[in-house]
Amino acid sequence: MALIVQKYGGTSVGTVERIKAVAQRVRRTVQAGNSVVVVVSAMGKTTDGLVKLANDISSSPSRREMDMLLSTGEQVSIALLSMALQEAAQPAVSLTGAQVGIVTEATHTRARILSIETDRIQRHLNRGEVVVVAGFQGISSLTDFEITTLGRGGSDTSAVALAAALKADACEIYTDVPGILTADPRLVPDAQLMPEITSDEMLELASLGAKVLHPRAVEIARNYGVTLVVRSSWTDDPGTRVVSPQPQPRPLVGLEIAHPVDGVGFDTDQAKVALLRIPDRPGIAARLFRELAQQDLNVDLVIQSIHEENTNDIAFTVVKESCNRAEAVAAAIAPALRTTPDPRASEAEVVVDRHMAKVSISGAGMIGRPGVAAQMFETLAKAGVNLEMISTSEVQVSCAIAESDCDRAIAALCDVFAVTSSPTHLGTRAQAQLPDTPSVRGAALDRQQARLAIRHVPDRPGMAARLFRLLADHIISVDMIIQSQRCRLVDGITTRDIAFTVSQADAAAAREVLLAEMPQWGCGEVVVDEAIAKVSIVGIGMVLRPGIAARMFEAIAQQGINIQMIATSEIKVSCVVAQEDGVHALQAVHEAFGLAGDTRIEVSA
Ligand code: ADP
Ligand code: ASP
Ligand code: MG
Repeated sequence: MALIVQKYGGTSVGTVERIKAVAQRVRRTVQAGNSVVVVVSAMGKTTDGLVKLANDISSSPSRREMDMLLSTGEQVSIALLSMALQEAAQPAVSLTGAQVGIVTEATHTRARILSIETDRIQRHLNRGEVVVVAGFQGISSLTDFEITTLGRGGSDTSAVALAAALKADACEIYTDVPGILTADPRLVPDAQLMPEITSDEMLELASLGAKVLHPRAVEIARNYGVTLVVRSSWTDDPGTRVVSPQPQPRPLVGLEIAHPVDGVGFDTDQAKVALLRIPDRPGIAARLFRELAQQDLNVDLVIQSIHEENTNDIAFTVVKESCNRAEAVAAAIAPALRTTPDPRASEAEVVVDRHMAKVSISGAGMIGRPGVAAQMFETLAKAGVNLEMISTSEVQVSCAIAESDCDRAIAALCDVFAVTSSPTHLGTRAQAQLPDTPSVRGAALDRQQARLAIRHVPDRPGMAARLFRLLADHIISVDMIIQSQRCRLVDGITTRDIAFTVSQADAAAAREVLLAEMPQWGCGEVVVDEAIAKVSIVGIGMVLRPGIAARMFEAIAQQGINIQMIATSEIKVSCVVAQEDGVHALQAVHEAFGLAGDTRIEVSA
């Protein structure tokens, strides 16, 4: 007999009829000879309604009371589903997070799961009952019963965590779309279903705006090897399988918090080419990367950020052997990229560093934990290592540093994170999975981000560390982090700009904490732009294929849309554009990679 955890989202239990339909599906699963634990969300838009009620009373309601309020939504649906099952002659019992013993951290409204008691669930299952568990909620300890919630969309995480704790045979996420699609069908009507996706890719997509799965649910599935599928509540179609590599055995205690970093990687075969002071207008990145791709030059990290006088810097790394050719391409383009018609005015300039290395930390446990990146930067600063480029993804932070600093950097990082190091050559991971893997698996849009730029940050080891420690201490997660390539002398001190994105909800707070510290650190102003959108493509197959980034930049440029920031990791490329251009850019990129199909996905209300 198999044990299956099924999770039904808000729309799937949005009406009495839908709850009855869910009960029938659960019953069929039991009749096929399985034990079933069901996790449900609040009905329809209940949680949004509760948030609105709270905001009508207070502009800053206490987090504890928010949890008290929001957790009620799920309590309604577990009782109703349990009744529907009983009505269908299927013995069932509903349990809240507290009754199960889902123990979380004490951080209200965004608690991480620490452990799950399985005895009570097991007892009910042994009696032939279906156990219906409230998603999204837990308690902060088994003694004081403080109710916590896991963050919006957190029922997915409850379900996968239960599957891990119960060592279930599968976790099935039932929702209002046929599975995981190449983009959000509400924004891109010709998005297509993917039969499968790797957990690494899904982790990126989920964190880059594809809310079909809560990223932490994917993280748990990846860490514990949970068999995970996403399917439609309305059909029997197989949906999408989220495929994870065989994981190392892990304890179930500290479920969501144990060991954030799995390993330290390094690559000493890196050279950097930077183009400084190029004009901030559509099509520049497209042109540069198209030329590079035509020369068959594969770029690794790419970063771009906007600066004073509306000019951009773009920097990228290539393997050392390609450096001369990449430099030649950049140098050939540079003269055509004058920022003003005045020939004496600042002109694009090419800067090359042939002796670079890349060090990175990786691990799914870094998601939503801003302190981990800060700790990496602090460690490197203490070792006297200056960071030339920083690139972040949900599960990896990479820093380009001087090659001569590499050994010191690795030793310090391995020591701090208590892990071992291994060389990471471009695309080793993807190579194993090619040639079937598509270059780009899917695209996503995040419209909840804001961009902050700090001007004139003194260029010495430790500045990035101090900035990000400060934000981490205020539980502000930083997403894209981009240090400018260009230096500027301010009062005799070399400075660089640092730009990054945070969620819009955190933007004002981030600005305030930074402003309070700035004078001591000698940085310039802090500029905030909330009207941005981030478009991303994700795919493990992109590393080994030159021209992917170029194609994305071209697709955006062809729409006349300007790219404000670029950041890449091994398996994603993200571009920040103006908010009003977001959907358009997403559709253009989706089309450019041939992700669109003929089937139109029905999207229910
Ligand atoms: P549930 O209530 O079942 O948890 P959600 O609303 O949280 O449902 O997630 C499902 C929604 O996610 C879909 O209706 C769709 O609009 C959105 N979505 C965003 N990106 C994707 C994607 N790549 N694939 C499928 N759905 C997506
Ligand atoms: N009901 C919660 C929310 O709307 C949790 C969930 O649906 O996953 O965010
Ligand atoms: Mg959801």
